[in-house]
Amino acid sequence: MNLDDSLTIIKGVGSQVLEKFKVLGVLTIEDLLTNYPRKYEDFSQVVSIINLNPGKSTIQAKVESVISRYGRRGFHMTEAVVADSSGKMNILWFNQPYRAASIKKDQEYYISGDFGLHNQKMSMINPSMELVSAFPLNTARIIPIYSETSGLKSIQIRKIVKNSLSYLDLISESLPEWIIKNYNLIPLKQAIEELHFPKSNEDLEKARSRIAFEELFDLSLAAQLNKKDLLLQPVIKIEFNQKLATEFVSKLDFKLTDEQKISAWQILKDMDKDRPMNRLLEGDVGTGKTVVATMAAVNTLKFGYQVALMAPTEILAKQHYKTIKDLLKPLKMDDKVGLLVGSMKPKDKAEAKDLFLAGKLNFMIGTHSIIQDSVKLPKLAMVVIDEQHRFGVNQRQNLLQKTGHMPHLLSMSATPIPRSLQLALFGDLDVSIIKSKPYSDLDIDTKIISLNQRSATYEKLKDVLKKKEQIYVVCPLISESPVMSFRAVEKVYKDLSEGVYKDYSVGILHSRLSTEEKEKVMEKFVSNEINVLVCTTIIEVGVNVPNATTIVIESAERFGLAQIHQLRGRVGRNHKQGSCYLLLDSSNKPSPRLLALENTFDGFKLAELDLELRGPGIIYGTLQHGKNNLDLQIADLTDIKMILLAKKAAEEFIEKGENLLQYVQLNERINRLRAITTLN
Ligand code: ADP
Ligand code: MG
Repeated sequence: MNLDDSLTIIKGVGSQVLEKFKVLGVLTIEDLLTNYPRKYEDFSQVVSIINLNPGKSTIQAKVESVISRYGRRGFHMTEAVVADSSGKMNILWFNQPYRAASIKKDQEYYISGDFGLHNQKMSMINPSMELVSAFPLNTARIIPIYSETSGLKSIQIRKIVKNSLSYLDLISESLPEWIIKNYNLIPLKQAIEELHFPKSNEDLEKARSRIAFEELFDLSLAAQLNKKDLLLQPVIKIEFNQKLATEFVSKLDFKLTDEQKISAWQILKDMDKDRPMNRLLEGDVGTGKTVVATMAAVNTLKFGYQVALMAPTEILAKQHYKTIKDLLKPLKMDDKVGLLVGSMKPKDKAEAKDLFLAGKLNFMIGTHSIIQDSVKLPKLAMVVIDEQHRFGVNQRQNLLQKTGHMPHLLSMSATPIPRSLQLALFGDLDVSIIKSKPYSDLDIDTKIISLNQRSATYEKLKDVLKKKEQIYVVCPLISESPVMSFRAVEKVYKDLSEGVYKDYSVGILHSRLSTEEKEKVMEKFVSNEINVLVCTTIIEVGVNVPNATTIVIESAERFGLAQIHQLRGRVGRNHKQGSCYLLLDSSNKPSPRLLALENTFDGFKLAELDLELRGPGIIYGTLQHGKNNLDLQIADLTDIKMILLAKKAAEEFIEKGENLLQYVQLNERINRLRAITTLN
């Protein structure tokens, strides 16, 4: 017997059932045992018939009579009369013709189901029923409900899980003894059993918190080990030259906000240490992160070291290049700045690379093209990653490994990572936050538009075009999909350009176009040769077209809240009132989360809401596969209390000098999690 054994050795699992389990990702006995129920239904209270109340109930009774017949409208009906010592009642099953044959008279059954009025008579409709025993599966208990798939329902899974319980003995404890004891946890084996077949709600709660604790402990330990390793890396200390910083600030043609100053100061302080900086600069779109990063970079450049800034799109990289060159001009450092993007001519690229290799250029700005091996930055001391959640772990790591030491890392993001997630995923990330914008912005006027108002809305938006202002139309897909009803760029482009906006210039932009095509479209949009741009979220980051005052988001339910918030940040720039229209693609009512967008303009709040309602994947891009990828089945990533507890245990684990290799399961999980959540 082995936990890795295939499910097929369990009674009730043949090759057909195995195929169904595969759909659920369950292949081995261990998978089965750790595939916890999704929810429960409490049918544990057994009451006498006379005491029954309407609602979910369980009785213990004998069957007195059963009739099986077809009703007037052609459906099948099984009708039974059951009795206990307190009274009798009726039971009805619809369209279960096999029922009658399986019922034995004069035997005692548990019957669990909904008790209610039917044809003016109180009865139970379609209840579960099984012979009274010490271990009922589908009645008279807290019943586990599993994730199901077609042809494999919970009732079957319960039986199979029960048949596999003898394997529980093979499960060894994954957490150290002292953690179990000090944190009042129940043993793993017991927790697993209680999760499948809880004896009481208290037991279930204990089982859930044991597993949740462990899931968060693993995450936290992985994060802390990552952090610890990072701190050991050799680094180039960049002395904080206050005079230089003051000079930079004095030459700006605007005044930095307090939050910008504090952030820059924190960054400069971080780099003046013997360990690598790993700081996240968070600030909504338009809060002025670029100038903060540039101010920090000045110091590094002054000491003759190199800085690399990586942006997710070419458009954005070019915009940064221009902005940063302008910012560095008064200090006469603008001649140190160079651009490297995929669409440059090979000759120009080669030349730029040579200049960086020779140290003639020291501030490289580009897209992921700067990760390539052929790009050499021998004196790289600082890396800035803009919109860091748009990059994968590997891309970030490649950039950091360009030299023999660890560069200081500044990640920037307009998508806030809620505090609970920061704690759980990164131990405790160093974060600088810019909350307010340098100029007070008008909130984007945001409206949800029902399906039947869609055409009228597009018609009305002609007024925007008549004012010579521009419109973005964002869709979740490029091409229509046979399986999803979401609106697609190609279709919407066709409809608009041939229909309501046929007298205007409509453009199309998405990731399948070549880089040159994309740039051309963007340039035309910037110059208002294109009035309406139908696109994917490709415009989410970067581009600044102040004349675009309106954004329409098709199939709005499909997007994350923080994402829509970023999208609408594209309009209403330069003191013009912006408008955002959220279009529904079905006649369903808008969800509460979407409604929140109409009157919430705080990106942090929206990100918290997203985390609660849709899980971390939607917020934090590297965790694209969301919950499963993090091995979280039970833990709640918004439960700060539990996260702090787990974090404390992980800290103790490290302080005690525990050897991870002694804990086989733990070690395996931690290594996997470290790779997923590393920020450097
Ligand atoms: P983001 O945080 O979205 O990256 P940017 O760095 O692109 O924001 O800044 C948005 C705009 O605000 C830029 O045009 C920038 O020059 C301007 N800006 C930045 N800081 C200030 C400030 N303190 N006062 C006025 N304008 C500022
Ligand atoms: Mg930016």
